Amino acid sequence: MTITTHAAIGAVIGRISGNPILAFLFGFFSHFIVDMIPHGDTGLSDNFRVFKRKRKQAVAYSVIDGVFALFFVLLLANMKDIGNMQLYTWGIIGSALPDLLVGFYVVTKVGWLKHFNEIHFFFHDYFVKKRGDVPLKYALIAQVVIVAYLQSKM
Ligand SMILES: [Zn+2]
Repeated sequence: MTITTHAAIGAVIGRISGNPILAFLFGFFSHFIVDMIPHGDTGLSDNFRVFKRKRKQAVAYSVIDGVFALFFVLLLANMKDIGNMQLYTWGIIGSALPDLLVGFYVVTKVGWLKHFNEIHFFFHDYFVKKRGDVPLKYALIAQVVIVAYLQSKM
């Protein structure tokens, strides 16, 4: 999923959890479950990781996603119930952290993140490697709808 979608789900989970530590933990584990849903980025991901081609496309996608996630968080911080901001924050941090760690691994190849990277993509690719992925444009439209819905419920 996009970081924006993970952030929106993490924010909702954080608020529901009612506790910053639980917000982080539930957000963190939600990342893997949510990533299992086919979401159209297998081609981008495989081109980057496996075939090492069209890498600028994957980097651009990630940068755009990251900036949208930043806008989402800023909108949340400025428009929503400030009393729950700590819960939103820890839910978002937990839910986005796995992709940050994967990014660190890609950049640094540091050994202690190798297994984490493998676990992440075990979940990420669980269904799409067996049954194929959905078209990216439909997955992105669906995620925009999901984020808008979740944002309206916060
Ligand atoms: Zn992920």
